[in-house]
Amino acid sequence: MAYIEPAPIKDHENPFESMMSRFIIAAEKLGLEDEVYNVLKSPDKQVLVSLPITMDNGSIQVFEGYRVIHSNILGPSKGGVRYDMDVNLDEVKALAAWMTWKCAVVDIPYGGAKGGIKCDPRKMSAGEIERLTRAYTTAMAEVFGPDRDIPAPDMGTGPREMAWMMDEYSRNHGMTVNAVVTGKPITLGGSLGRAEATGRGVMISCLSAMEKLQINPYNSIIAVQGFGNVGSFAALLLQERGAKVVAISDISGSYYNENGINIQEAIDYRDNNERTLEGFDGATKMEDAEELLFLDVDVLIPAAKEDVITPKNADRIQARLIVEGANGPTMAAADEIINKKGIMVVPDILANAGGVTVSYFEWVQNRLGYKWTRERVNRRADRTIRAAFENVYNKHNRYNVPMRIAAYIVAISKINKAYKYRGGY
Ligand code: NAD
Repeated sequence: MAYIEPAPIKDHENPFESMMSRFIIAAEKLGLEDEVYNVLKSPDKQVLVSLPITMDNGSIQVFEGYRVIHSNILGPSKGGVRYDMDVNLDEVKALAAWMTWKCAVVDIPYGGAKGGIKCDPRKMSAGEIERLTRAYTTAMAEVFGPDRDIPAPDMGTGPREMAWMMDEYSRNHGMTVNAVVTGKPITLGGSLGRAEATGRGVMISCLSAMEKLQINPYNSIIAVQGFGNVGSFAALLLQERGAKVVAISDISGSYYNENGINIQEAIDYRDNNERTLEGFDGATKMEDAEELLFLDVDVLIPAAKEDVITPKNADRIQARLIVEGANGPTMAAADEIINKKGIMVVPDILANAGGVTVSYFEWVQNRLGYKWTRERVNRRADRTIRAAFENVYNKHNRYNVPMRIAAYIVAISKINKAYKYRGGY
């Protein structure tokens, strides 16, 4: 069979370049030396493996698996494993670096990593996915480890895959090592509060930003793009704190109600309707789903996917505040337009870091052999995100830069300091 190189995706930013363009601005503001810049721009380790898997029909299919460790200067590297047909080295490299900055911004003792397998899990049986997950874990036996590199779920993976990874790693090491992955089922050492942690972090960073902008949550109007794990919890928790959520959306479309949508009802509807909002009657379906982004609201929360705010549509955004629940929802090329409009952006590496924070708590609990209550997890996670927000906000004022660059400044200066203490060859 002839190998065909996939065509480049038009209008799609190279994620690594997009990450680097922001990194460079922050590095210049900080006056980062070339040596450190060169260290931080290159991942520590890039592993590419071929995984031959026996499919249910008896044929053997070879899958490509990746793991990129961007940095372990601050501690063992941490990052999800993605199962998707679009997985490629550039994307994994960018996401790994993002994890380094994210962990540094929220001040948890981890470096950054990311992994992925180029596959379409929707077209595979549970048995095929299990064999693939186990083969990948064994191939990464020398990479993973509770003190080396700790995977977690990402797009296309969840607690089921994490349980298989933990089991396979444990078999290879002759003992149960539950701290080797996070995002596990609760019975295997998963943390209470992990499911809602990212949405909760979005809520905390949103409230922190509202305070600075003097937006009263009780008078605030919010639109949320994406109604999955992150978007639905963020919408629910903000509504519980007084906000009026007038628009929500998922892959089926956008739904608007000027009097505010009852988010718990929308969640219940989705959960009983094959995870989609299609047919939800608590709001009116908008003719053009993208129009949600341009509504006259105080806060816009993009919580679906990357590259939704582009140089072509950024000028139409009316919100005063954007809180990035998703990873990379704003293209780097749109940053300037957003900044000129005076919109405050709480960037992804701060706004959605509640997830990795509670993943870190899961690892801590596994290593302690002790389980925290949900209240303790939430309290500590809230405190972590609030402190990170204040730190970034102070840098935003001190360096007179947008919040996104301020977050990069926080991360890079911390890693730079740690690198100097540790020293190189
Ligand atoms: P999810 O799969 O649970 O939900 C995604 C939601 O977005 C779904 O409702 C889907 O229908 C919707 N969607 C997809 N395409 C859309 C479109 N074009 N328009 C509107 N809605 C669309 O995923 P999630 O876990 O909520 O993750 C969402 C984003 O947050 C991703 O960028 C992810 O990387 C990021 N993130 C997630 C976590 C986490 O803990 N889950 C942590 C950090 C970052």
